Amino acid sequence: MGLLDRFRKVRDGLSRTRSTFSDRITKVISRKTRIDDELIDEIEETLLSGDIGFDATGKIVADIRARVKAEGYEDSAMLKDLLKEEVAKYLIDPDGTGPVPEKPRVIMVVGVNGAGKTTTVGKLSYNFRSEGKRVLIAAADTFRAAANEQLKIWADRAGVEIIQQEPGTDPGAVAYDAVSAAKARGIDVVLIDTAGRLHTRTNLMEELKKIARVIGKVVPGAPHEVYLVLDAVTGQNGLVQARMFLEAAGVTGIVLTKLDGTAKGGIVIAISQELKLPVKYIGVGEGIDDLQPFDRNMFVDALFSEAEEENDVQGSPAKGA
Ligand code: GDP
Repeated sequence: MGLLDRFRKVRDGLSRTRSTFSDRITKVISRKTRIDDELIDEIEETLLSGDIGFDATGKIVADIRARVKAEGYEDSAMLKDLLKEEVAKYLIDPDGTGPVPEKPRVIMVVGVNGAGKTTTVGKLSYNFRSEGKRVLIAAADTFRAAANEQLKIWADRAGVEIIQQEPGTDPGAVAYDAVSAAKARGIDVVLIDTAGRLHTRTNLMEELKKIARVIGKVVPGAPHEVYLVLDAVTGQNGLVQARMFLEAAGVTGIVLTKLDGTAKGGIVIAISQELKLPVKYIGVGEGIDDLQPFDRNMFVDALFSEAEEENDVQGSPAKGA
């Protein structure tokens, strides 16, 4: 998918957020021609209402005040660009160019049921497949028969291999078999779907730890990534849920689903700021090609874009703070 198509997907996925949050910003700014304290106060209120979170809002606004003073901005039309730069500063760029681990690269996908885990594993497998990689899915959520049927459908659509076993099989054993098979077959990426709910929370966390341990015995250093799937619609409440997984599962990045279904797109900024974890992918629809790698400059451009602004699309690392 080209850069412009990706931008359009992200922009369209953010349309609900734009129509509340970004349009309000534009309105606030357009009411005054000169920057003053009151105008910045109003921007602060708007940022808070956009689910960006207390922490990030405070920092962004303090930076803007300081820069307005130090750099002598007066014209309110400058504020939008300032804001874009500041917001980008508080997003963590996932940097997909880190060291490439040995084959297979093992990615565990965790999160509560309903967050979009199954769908995400399907879309991720499609993304890797589109890059020419050989992918194997391990269905290690052996508790939900229906989810496993869904996973098989996604695997077939994406054209990737899948390892499933009888319902009730030990998830650690499924993961072990899958990673062993991947090693033997020269697979590039293994995606491990995991349970989102067990009898107790402690059971779930213990099981995730166990899966990670078992995988590490087959491929030292694995899992290389643990993605926590969060539903953007849950907004700030999702952050509470996230913390529980962070401690137990060694999460390395967030996949934020259903951004297209919410006006709370500002949650991306709160996640970076409060969880100190990069958002690696964003889900902007239910289609197989609707999981987009997160790129902070593209995100900010899309967030503050007006419909006609697509000529100057630039992905990282071309521009920004
Ligand atoms: P799981 O229980 O965590 O495995 O969740 P599923 O993968 O079954 O997803 C739950 C619902 O969320 C399904 O109806 C998905 O189609 C939907 N969903 C997942 N990701 C997205 C997204 O990015 N956008 C939209 N609109 N829906 C999504």
